[in-house]
This record gives sequence, C-alpha cells and structure tokens, in this order.
Amino acid sequence: MRLAPNYQLPIAEALAVLEDSAVDRFPVDLHAIQRQFHKLFQIRSYGMFMKTHCTSREECSHYLGSEDGAAVFDGHGRYIVYYNEEKRKQRTRFTIAHEIGHIFLDHHREHGISILTANGVGQDLYGRLEKEADCFARNLLCPAYHAKKLLDAHGITRGSNGSDGWARTKETRITENLETIFYAEDLVETAFDVSTAAAKARVDFLKADMNKYASYQMDWEPTSHIRHAAAWYCSKCGLERFPGSSYCSECGRKLFVFQVNPAGFQYREAGMNDNKQFSPCPVCGNKEFSRDAGFCKICGTPLSNACTHDATHLNHPEARHCYACGKPTVFKQTDYHFRVKQSLMHTIEGDPSMIYKSDIQYDPLTNKVDECPRCLNETFSEGAQYCRICGLELVNKCIPEPVEGQNGYYYTPDPHENLPDARFCEQCGAPTVYFQKHGILKGYEEALRELSGKSAHEDDGDIPF
Ligand SMILES: [Zn+2]
Ligand SMILES: [Zn+2]
Ligand SMILES: [Zn+2]
Ligand SMILES: [Zn+2]
Ligand SMILES: [Zn+2]
Ligand SMILES: [Zn+2]
Repeated sequence: MRLAPNYQLPIAEALAVLEDSAVDRFPVDLHAIQRQFHKLFQIRSYGMFMKTHCTSREECSHYLGSEDGAAVFDGHGRYIVYYNEEKRKQRTRFTIAHEIGHIFLDHHREHGISILTANGVGQDLYGRLEKEADCFARNLLCPAYHAKKLLDAHGITRGSNGSDGWARTKETRITENLETIFYAEDLVETAFDVSTAAAKARVDFLKADMNKYASYQMDWEPTSHIRHAAAWYCSKCGLERFPGSSYCSECGRKLFVFQVNPAGFQYREAGMNDNKQFSPCPVCGNKEFSRDAGFCKICGTPLSNACTHDATHLNHPEARHCYACGKPTVFKQTDYHFRVKQSLMHTIEGDPSMIYKSDIQYDPLTNKVDECPRCLNETFSEGAQYCRICGLELVNKCIPEPVEGQNGYYYTPDPHENLPDARFCEQCGAPTVYFQKHGILKGYEEALRELSGKSAHEDDGDIPF
C-alpha cells in the first residue's frame, strides 16, 4: 500500500476540474463546480444531516468523523459532501474543496470505504490521503500559476536564498504610487477568498507547486484566462483605483483597499488619441478633432480634464480630483462634470459621432464654404468674406467672450476660424456664428434628441402589442 503522497495527481486533477467547470473568475465559485458535477456529488450542510438523521451537531460530527466536513460515498459512484455551516466561510470553502479532492482522487473507492477517517484506514494512510486532498484544495481554490501571477503583478518575488520568503522587491504598474502596505498572504487571502492559514500554505508551497508544473509538464494553459475579481478600490467611495494613482479621482482620498467588491465601481472606459485628446468626446461622442483642438467642436467640452494645479496631470473625464496630486480637476469647477455624468446615462447605441457628419463642402486652405449653407448660393467673388446674396459669413468663426486685460479693461479677443460644422471653437470653446448667431447647425443635444426620437419611432412597428 502506497503511503507516500503523490502531489502530481492532485494538481493535475484540480486544474482539470477548473477547466471542466468553465470557472472564469476568482474567487472560485464552488457552486459552479457542483452544478457541473451534480451527478457525481451533492453539497449539504451539517444542519441538513441533523434534520434527516435526527441527530445533534455533536453526533453528526462524530458520525462523519470531523467537525468541518466529510464526503460520504454511496458505494456506487455518488457522493454527498457535508460541511459544518457554523465554521467561518473561508474555512468551509477549503473544507468543501478538500472533500471534492477525495472524490476526484478516488480515495473512497481505493480503500472500499464510505467515510474516510483515521480509524477506518489507519493513521499513516490517512495522513497521505489528507495531504493529497489538501494539495487538491489548494490548487483548486488558488492555483499556483494564478497566485504567482497575482504576486508578480504586485512586484512580490521569492528571496534568492529561500528562507526570506516572498516579499516586495520592485515597483509595478499596480504598485506605483500605492502607499498601502500589503503582504503576499494578504493578497492571496482576499483574491482567492481563503483563510489566513490557507493563504499562508499557498504562499509556502508556491515554489514547490510551480516546480511540479515544470517537472511534470502540467497543462495550466486552459485555465490561464481565469481572472481576478479582486482589485484595489478607494476605501471611501469604492471607485476602482487606476494604476499609478496616488489619490482617488472621485473623492480625493488616499487610502485604497484590496478587495472583491461587488459595490465597487469603475469609470466608463475612456479613450484617448495620440494627441492626448479624449476620443470619443465624453459628452457627445464626436471623434473628429483637429490635431491641436482643445475643445470638442460639436459640444464645446474640453478634450482633456487637466489638474488645476499642474496641467501635465491629465485625468479621466469623470474625475473631480487629480489622480496624481489630489487637487481639483478642471471639470470639477464647471458643469462639464455633470454633463459627462449625464451623458453616461444617455449612452446611445451605435456611433453617435455619425449624426454630426456634415456635408458642407469647404476649401481646406481658407476654411471658406464652397456653397452658402443658408441660401445655397455658389458664386462668390475673390476674397469675399460674406455671401453676396444673404450676407452670411463664409468662414465659421467663434464668438469670443470679452476678457479682462492687464490694465483692468475688458476687450474682445480676435475670433478663431473654424470648420463649417463646428458648433464650438476648437481653440477657445466659445460658440460659433453658424451655431449661435445663425442657427444653421443643430446643437448636439438637439441632434441626439432627434436621433433617439427617430429610432423610437422606427421601432414602433416591431412592438408586438
Ligand atoms: Zn480529508
Ligand atoms: Zn474615492
Ligand atoms: Zn463633444
Ligand atoms: Zn495634479
Ligand atoms: Zn447666402
Ligand atoms: Zn475661439
């Protein structure tokens, strides 16, 4: 009879169970595994055992040979995993994973026994079976590959002489500017939702398990896509921390916690183009900007949300506090913040930038229209500034606000030239003559309203009642 534990099989079996159950995130959902293998085993609490067998909890623990849990084999191929629901959740998760390990490692059948106990199989053999089931549980709940990846992402490596354990040795994208102190075991405990003791065992056996991957050519590849639900969140408002942030962009707090947080939230994914302009515009969805544009020509929103303290600190459009220094962002002082938030609620399907497509032709050298967009006159004299039929400006300029000069007097700066479809100036954000003065262009809100009104109308025919 073999008394030396074989650790290759438990690791391989754990990986196979994860793959078969299509587990796609950590912490592992044991119910998903049970559903996948519902013909093989059921999971029941000690309370249910006590009810059906009319026993006390003590008698139940005594019968099952454990205060934590046990797998009972029916002799034909089906099992019931019992767990003591009065233990801590993390401990129970490990217990259930351990019992599932006995099932997949075929320990009951191997010894022709319905409940594995030290009395039943003898102390030495029992020791071997327990070690193998623990190894299975460890690699089911926190596979070595994924634990290693988690630690790598946080700059935690193993000391070269082994006895130093796993410690932070370098900065990574995630840890940059993160002032919170954390240890390998904390991350493992949270990310995999296991007890402190199990997290410590995972870290302690990490090197050994990784070595087994290598020496037995274990195929962890099919599980490599499993993601972590745990992340760093603001301790106050629950916003997920951006890598590199010192301060929460939503509330300005400096304290972040690593947790699996169903109540945590993320800002909407926001793109930025090569010119460091928001793209698409976070308010109206427009994507067409001049290279040097500072404002969206459709809705007038600034194309970056800089810090009021240091203009090189560029923030997410939803941010009110600078990620780098905690000072207010430009958007915080204005109603842009409100408009960005509001546009989130009215996200329109498809590509909203399409509705702003302009068919006004113009000369790219002079920015002059080829045809008057108001009266459709096409003939202009050389150097003409205005349409000779209706008097419209041939170049769509902005209408700048008066500004205070150095001597205290107000003056109106020279207007900027803009393309004929601009509602707002790309240089200064002021409204344009085609938009505000003449009403030739529709505002983005009106365009969006029309678009949503139109699609609602078009959908009418499809409603079956
Ligand atoms: Zn066991
Ligand atoms: Zn916050
Ligand atoms: Zn815009
Ligand atoms: Zn800043
Ligand atoms: Zn005209
Ligand atoms: Zn301007």
